[in-house]
Amino acid sequence: MKIIDLRSDTVTSPSPEMRSAMAQAEVGDDVFGEDPNVNRLEEMAADMLGFESALFASSGTQTNLLALLSHCQRGDEYIVGQQAHTYKYEGGGGAVLGSIQPQPIEFEPDSTLDLARVKMYIKPDDFHFARTRLLCLENTQAGKALPMHYLARAASFARDEGLRIHLDGARIFNAALKRNVTATAIAAHFDSVSVCLSKGLGAPVGSLLCGSQELIREARKWRKMLGGGMRQAGIVAAAGIYALQHNSQRLAKDHENAALLAQGLGEIDEIDVDFHEAQTNMLYIDVTPESAALLPEFLRQRGILVSGGETVRLVTHLDVAGEDISRVMEAYKEFFSG
Ligand SMILES: *Cc1c(COP(=O)(O)O)cnc(C)c1O
Repeated sequence: MKIIDLRSDTVTSPSPEMRSAMAQAEVGDDVFGEDPNVNRLEEMAADMLGFESALFASSGTQTNLLALLSHCQRGDEYIVGQQAHTYKYEGGGGAVLGSIQPQPIEFEPDSTLDLARVKMYIKPDDFHFARTRLLCLENTQAGKALPMHYLARAASFARDEGLRIHLDGARIFNAALKRNVTATAIAAHFDSVSVCLSKGLGAPVGSLLCGSQELIREARKWRKMLGGGMRQAGIVAAAGIYALQHNSQRLAKDHENAALLAQGLGEIDEIDVDFHEAQTNMLYIDVTPESAALLPEFLRQRGILVSGGETVRLVTHLDVAGEDISRVMEAYKEFFSG
């Protein structure tokens, strides 16, 4: 029985074609700047997102940290969403390693940060305060693609307030497909963008930070200091190249599958489905505490993996096919009819 893993889009395994690209990759020492596949991947990413330069790193946690360290100095502050990856899920790296203070604020229901509220939290130029330096957005956030008109407003707001603006674009290609624009059109509103290759794009490892030449030069120094200078990294970069070339458009299929699943589960009375119009490859469902206690094991016995809890995030990706969605819906139906 095929295992259907809906816990995250990080669970994908490299396909035989991707593995073959990795096996055949020509390599060099990337710390010397001599790995042809790393160089090619960085150029591709910079081109695709419309930046001067890009840097390959081990994870999105690292590329976001590199962005914080490169934009901010010790004693600076970044404004960020309360539930943002860059604030909540990265071990406080900006504070620990950069002495950079986060100023979290609640996301709005559409996953934007209200700019009037952001403005209230920008610190005056006064020695009592940290110096507010950077605004961080996330797209997609909780699977929602931010509205394009909001991005334009956020960019001009940041410019007016003298802030830099960074995007945690772990899933920027999902956002672009949802908004029917290019990833460049989204990235154009930011001073830097971090992109994950290891989510829906299906690469085993890796993220890219894109920005100006000057920013990336700074980030490259921090990456080395953090122990992130990898040598024959072309083996994994080749997977990233394959992912960008073959897997960015197919994300639309994941969006379709998530919508199908949302619709199907919505027909079950005991499940409350939260599927925002901006949703891409994720949906959130609520079940009672009694069901929550039993569901993961019940589904696991039927070859379906989901996270525990009363609010569950279900994520579609490259290793979930259309027919798998029917199997998942049937399993939930069986649970609630039993
Ligand atoms: C996954 C993710 C990251 C980076 O995570 P890594 O596991 O460190 O690659 C950053 N931001 C968001 C929104 C993510 O979902």
